[in-house]
Amino acid sequence: MGLIKNIYKTNNNLGNEQLDKPHFDSCLATSMVNGQTNAELTITLRILFHAVTWEDDDVYGTPSSMKIKDVGGAEFKIVEWPSSNVFDEFCRSAVWQANHYWNGYAGNGKLWLKTPDYVHGLDWPLGAAKTTHRANIWCRFRCERTKDASKAHIKVRVVRLPDKSSGPLGFRSHMTLWDHVDTLSASFSSSGSKSMFYTVVHEVGHCIGQRHIGEVQQLPACITGGSGNACYGEGSTFASNVMGLGSKIELDNAVTWQRRVVRHFPDSPSLPQDWKPSNSKVAPRLLSSFAPHSHDPGMSPDAW
Ligand SMILES: [Zn+2]
Repeated sequence: MGLIKNIYKTNNNLGNEQLDKPHFDSCLATSMVNGQTNAELTITLRILFHAVTWEDDDVYGTPSSMKIKDVGGAEFKIVEWPSSNVFDEFCRSAVWQANHYWNGYAGNGKLWLKTPDYVHGLDWPLGAAKTTHRANIWCRFRCERTKDASKAHIKVRVVRLPDKSSGPLGFRSHMTLWDHVDTLSASFSSSGSKSMFYTVVHEVGHCIGQRHIGEVQQLPACITGGSGNACYGEGSTFASNVMGLGSKIELDNAVTWQRRVVRHFPDSPSLPQDWKPSNSKVAPRLLSSFAPHSHDPGMSPDAW
């Protein structure tokens, strides 16, 4: 009835994650809503980090000369993590970095969703017979580490390379297999501007269902599903996006919140794309300033 505050989506198939079927929790907070203040939709991603060891199925060679293949099929020598403290330190910095970028603290762009004209659930005063404003939504993000598999949304395995010499781009990571230098920055030049890339920040984008910016923008040079450089937006103005070769959180990156927010309003079915994203705050609207109406597109098949 009305709106749903918390949605929990646990992962019963940990270790077999699929990009288009992400798992994460979401909390719609409305206690702060008034004529000037929006609601907040917080996406929470809990990661179970696993230190890759000789025991892992895809590790081969010998215990003293371990090897593994990266996502591109290239063979890499790996070593055991020297201690659990060192591994914990990697996990801490990865989680910090994910939060730093995805929640907008670094000035990489905060995101808001404008409540559609036909969704009434955030009209203020909330639940009142006579309302004056329609609040919008501020998109928040929180990444956490968990050691409890039953609470994890995704399992991320992390390999330890013998040294840092290959840099963060030597071993090619993917959504669920990272390396120990993935928190380091790499810089790219594209379309005359330089952008900083952090593998962890990019992979966390995949963890919450996001595809490469070249696919999202349907750049002709990018074959859907591929991950060639064109799919990272190379040579285009989209390269600086976090799902490209940069670290910017932009309007295209609101998709995770758009596809989840619809589930929080079961009484007002809506389409994700009707929650228009903005990278500057959109204040609650006066109901007298537009034409609120009813419209029922049914439950969106694109809902997460
Ligand atoms: Zn990627």
